[in-house]
Amino acid sequence: AKTQGRGILRFFSPEMGLRAKHRLTLEAELRQALERSELHVYYQPQVDLISGEIIGLEALVRWQHPERGLVPPGEFIPLAEESGLVVPLGDWVLRETCRQIKQWTESGLAPRQTAVNISAVQLSRGHLVESIKEVLAETGIAPQQLELEITESFVIVDRDQSFKALAELKALGIRLSIDDFGTGYSSLGYLQQLEVDKLKVDISFVRNMTTNMGSASIVKAVIALGHSLGLEVIAEGVEDAGQARYLRSLRCDVMQGYLISRPMPAEETTRFLASFQPT
Ligand code: C2E
Ligand code: CA
Ligand code: CA
Ligand code: CA
Repeated sequence: AKTQGRGILRFFSPEMGLRAKHRLTLEAELRQALERSELHVYYQPQVDLISGEIIGLEALVRWQHPERGLVPPGEFIPLAEESGLVVPLGDWVLRETCRQIKQWTESGLAPRQTAVNISAVQLSRGHLVESIKEVLAETGIAPQQLELEITESFVIVDRDQSFKALAELKALGIRLSIDDFGTGYSSLGYLQQLEVDKLKVDISFVRNMTTNMGSASIVKAVIALGHSLGLEVIAEGVEDAGQARYLRSLRCDVMQGYLISRPMPAEETTRFLASFQPT
């Protein structure tokens, strides 16, 4: 069987059976997680590279499983996308985040905007526009306070439906950010067709840019492209001061990463926002 290649071996291995079972269990448990309040939203600050101020936050979902502990989103979001669960899950994250934005606005702590990750599945077959209108009406926050982070995969999943939804959301005043920019397969034409506000340089390029010339070139190219289109450019995964300095020298606008803070629960984010001093 070895000559058949690793993929086939893997397909029939008992380990695979276990993994398939694990998946099914995890999926069933994820269904219950929403009702049992096991999901939480964490927030990670985004800092302006010139003023040093917090200008945004990114909302990142966390699953606190009663036995497994913290399950990383990289493990359950793909499952949620395949099963369609990402639609109710995404609605929940949106509502939770907007309620939190409202609280921070009332206490004078809200940054310019807070970003929520939106799956291509939500865009193509959800009722995302309706959900967002509802949540905006319910919380009374300004549409400009909400930013959606989408990856280039939306172009592949259902281009027409996704473009329509995104155009409607833009018309409402919602901000739009392209996540993991440069890692997708799509052409760049959509940048002109959609009113994108922000490009997010992928973490993999940022991680290597100070040691690898290829990564540095890509970071420079994304910044140049973004600026020539009038877009804001943010680098994610910034972990040390050297990276921040380098990004500043390239005129990148915003950074996000462990250098500023790891993603934090809401209460901790409130304290962080209240006590943060630009350096
Ligand atoms: P992403 O949107 O690209 O998020 C960035 C990831 O990098 C986050 O991982 C964040 O915690 C991590 N990160 C931030 N700063 C640093 C850093 O300085 N160094 C390193 N090594 N990592 C850093 P996380 O929270 O585990 O999320 C993983 C992915 O899961 C996200 O990637 C996003 O694609 C997805 N995700 C998270 N929350 C949601 C959600 O509410 N909805 C959807 N659809 N997807 C989500
Ligand atoms: Ca993101
Ligand atoms: Ca990203
Ligand atoms: Ca990513």
